[in-house]
Amino acid sequence: MLLSLKNVSMVYKVGEVEIHALREVSFSVEEGEFVAVMGPSGSGKSTFLQIASILNAATSGSILLKEKQVEHYTEVEQARLRNQEIGFVFQQFNLLARTTALDNVSLPLLYANVTKSDRDERAKVMLEKVGLGDRLQNGPSQLSGGQQQRVAIARALINNPSIVFADEPTGNLDTQSGEEIKKILIDLNNEGRTIIMVTHEEDVATIAKRFVFFQDGEIVYDDKYGWNKKRIQPLLKEVENEIKRKLKKMKR
Ligand code: ADP
Ligand code: MG
Repeated sequence: MLLSLKNVSMVYKVGEVEIHALREVSFSVEEGEFVAVMGPSGSGKSTFLQIASILNAATSGSILLKEKQVEHYTEVEQARLRNQEIGFVFQQFNLLARTTALDNVSLPLLYANVTKSDRDERAKVMLEKVGLGDRLQNGPSQLSGGQQQRVAIARALINNPSIVFADEPTGNLDTQSGEEIKKILIDLNNEGRTIIMVTHEEDVATIAKRFVFFQDGEIVYDDKYGWNKKRIQPLLKEVENEIKRKLKKMKR
């Protein structure tokens, strides 16, 4: 088991109001899997990704990443673990402005105590891998959306992470750029890279091999286990047909 979440809940407090974004979610992923996470807006997909990738701490529950009990780690230890084991691709790319593609990609290595020449060399190799070997010195403003997302993928890969998380990686891209990103993700998974990706586009989800559906902060369907009937019988009736229809389209 590479990553396992057990009974993970997340409650956001906004003033007096409590928002239950995740309700006792259990989920695990093995090395080499490619998971598409789907579900309506507000169902907890991004919260799930942020907690599973150690960007945010859960309110309760346990997270095991490569045999390490994440919630017992200090913040500094968690940051180090994240730097070593996790790559994250955001919908909005999140590149540093006025910073070259090469420097954006090599940045995570700065915290891993790699020398400047090694950092640059490894970043160059990664950018070549995503087809941007001729764009090393370009900043984000000189790159198209699709190219910026490819830089972001190179950055996510630079530490040779155990898992790559992507939150709607094609959400801000035109169809053509989206196709390029899909192809890169497929190649990465074929090389054995574990990927967990949120998307609401069915044609993007089809590149994954396993599907997980969220509804109201719970996993209502997971390819690995089927329907979560016990917890959400009433909810299930509403979503079952829709999910079945989607699944039918997505099986590759
Ligand atoms: P999704 O990615 O499926 O759209 P999110 O995980 O972003 O869902 O959100 C789940 C729920 O938690 C929503 O009700 C959302 O409004 C709420 N939420 C998400 N992030 C925060 C936050 N930082 N503070 C307060 N509420 C949040
Ligand atoms: Mg989201």
